[in-house]
Amino acid sequence: APAARAVGVWKVYGTGAAEVVALRDVDVDIASHRFTAIMGPSGSGKSTLMHCLAGLDSVTRGEVWVGGTRLTGLSDAGLTRLRRRQIGFVFQQFNLLPTLTAEENILLPLAIAGRKPDAAWVRTVVNAVDLAPRLKHRPAELSGGQQQRVACARALITRPDVIFADEPTGNLDSRSGTEILGFLRESVRRYGQTIVMVTHDPNAAAYADRVVFLLDGRIVRELFEPTAERIF
Ligand code: ADP
Ligand code: ADP
Repeated sequence: APAARAVGVWKVYGTGAAEVVALRDVDVDIASHRFTAIMGPSGSGKSTLMHCLAGLDSVTRGEVWVGGTRLTGLSDAGLTRLRRRQIGFVFQQFNLLPTLTAEENILLPLAIAGRKPDAAWVRTVVNAVDLAPRLKHRPAELSGGQQQRVACARALITRPDVIFADEPTGNLDSRSGTEILGFLRESVRRYGQTIVMVTHDPNAAAYADRVVFLLDGRIVRELFEPTAERIF
């Protein structure tokens, strides 16, 4: 079964003259244990699609499923529960809690879900992002690349059905960006994680197993086993 899917999804913002159709009858299956990239020009609906799949935004028409649960019709409390248990997020701006250490940030999703950390898994994740010597530091004492590695570890720590990464390399230099993309790809290869990444960077999308192209709220093209040359 797909880790997530959109079926006939429409998203309309505003009404009347101010109406904007952000998604037009979008069907997409997000394959489990695969790395999917969503690309498209500014305003094509990438963020809207990601937010609808992640239960951050409601759809106007159609259905969204995550890990066997239908999001459409869930209450706000139900959506919050589902996001906490089944979804991980990585944002362009890192979104770490500034008063917590790197380690506390990484463990926070487990604490919120009331789950006990598995020491071996925590060690695996911390080593995978190469953060062991930085665990007691707060975000302000870390570089951007290190902060994003903390955010990646935080997303992976609960082994969610899907990790959604919204322009995860948008605020990083190219070396740090490459590290993050390598980590995302490794978490799919080694740990079977499912990842959806929104990006406008063909070099970033080339790390994915599949690229879905949006234009004016529609999926207009798909590419499997992409290379940067074929994406451009
Ligand atoms: P992308 O992520 O590809 O840049 P978005 O999903 O952010 O595209 O936006 C798709 C379209 O929906 C754009 O025309 C944008 O202006 C519009 N849009 C996005 N969010 C809102 C909103 N909250 N209210 C009104 N229009 C919006
Ligand atoms: P941007 O559009 O600048 O990339 P973000 O991707 O950081 O913004 O956030 C997009 C939306 O998701 C915002 O409305 C934010 O409040 C919401 N959001 C951010 N983190 C979470 C979270 N962990 N759970 C639920 N909603 C979140």
